[in-house]
Amino acid sequence: MSVLPPRSIAVVLGTRPELIKLTELIRLLGPAAHVVHTGQHYDDDLSGRFIAEMGLPEPTYLTGVGGEPRAVQLARSLEQLDSLFTDVPPSAVVVQGDTNAALAGALAANAHGIPLVHVEAGLRSHDRAMPEEHNRVLIDRLADVLCAATPENRANLLTEGVPLSRVELTGNTVVEAVHRQLPEPAERFAHLDRLGLVEDGYVLATVHRPENTDDPAALHAILTELAALARTLPVVLPLHPRTRARIEHAGMAGLLAPLTITRPLGHRDFLALARHAALLVSDSGGVQEEVTVLGRPLVVVRNSTERPEAMAEFATLVSPGPQLGEAVRHRLRQGPAERARLESLPSPFGDGLASARIAALLTHMVAERAAEPAHAEAA
Ligand code: UDP
Repeated sequence: MSVLPPRSIAVVLGTRPELIKLTELIRLLGPAAHVVHTGQHYDDDLSGRFIAEMGLPEPTYLTGVGGEPRAVQLARSLEQLDSLFTDVPPSAVVVQGDTNAALAGALAANAHGIPLVHVEAGLRSHDRAMPEEHNRVLIDRLADVLCAATPENRANLLTEGVPLSRVELTGNTVVEAVHRQLPEPAERFAHLDRLGLVEDGYVLATVHRPENTDDPAALHAILTELAALARTLPVVLPLHPRTRARIEHAGMAGLLAPLTITRPLGHRDFLALARHAALLVSDSGGVQEEVTVLGRPLVVVRNSTERPEAMAEFATLVSPGPQLGEAVRHRLRQGPAERARLESLPSPFGDGLASARIAALLTHMVAERAAEPAHAEAA
């Protein structure tokens, strides 16, 4: 249980993966957490419904951010965070990952001289075409405590000259998120039943990255390969709002006909399907981590990845095109023996205690600062 003062830790977030990966830390911080949601994801399926499902406290919402270009998202979030932090300065700010919300939170903390903790620091795709790569590099420059999920992430930071004293090897909070959110077998199989699926008898796919959705050729190539695959076994595609909009705009809705299309799923339902899929196909960052906890094979459809740890055993990286179908067929041919082998491997992303480590270091950091002469006098 946290001994920090109420609402003393501002947790700034704005998207579905941040909600998933910060829930356990927010739970451990208890009343000390003040959750600030920038509204970067504003669709109810990706924010409101998720906040309720995760049992999170009601956030303070920023306005006018969702759906805007990146620079506008940053500017509007920063202005509102500036005023929040002026009214009631938190003792520390926590951001996670590489979103615009995280960068805005980092900049606001920096402008106010508030200690900044970056959860999931040190990931690098080295792909300068990705806005997320710029966000994560900038946040790591600003952060006072960098919570590296893996030794590879820590090595990236040290190579860039970040002092070792600022880096903590914590593990990735996704591990405990999966442990907490994965339903028991009866609930999982009931969910499969509702969709007419059987264990190991379907593929689960997600597509939402701009490099795939905003490039009609890439989007067409991915949907064509998934549609071809659906001739041999069911392919479930929970459709992200951006992907749905791009498919409709590009007139490609016909390619969805052979697929089992759903709304974006709640995390529990998604994990239930992921746990029993013969294979996953995805461009998501979080899914690359989750398959290593669930012990499932994955084909990552992207040009680069910032998660090489998943590639060693669990995942295969391919660009959109016929090579996607080839990689899928190859992975499926490996069959139940390979899935059993993957299930027996430990996740390279941690041991399920990352959130507890981060809560402890926040408590320690705030107590230490309060004891410093300047802060003690002011108190
Ligand atoms: N996810 C979910 N429902 C879905 C699809 C994905 O709950 O229908 C979860 C998934 O388990 C993972 C997270 O959303 O934890 C990934 O989010 P997303 O792919 O939007 O972002 P990324 O991880 O690529 O930043």
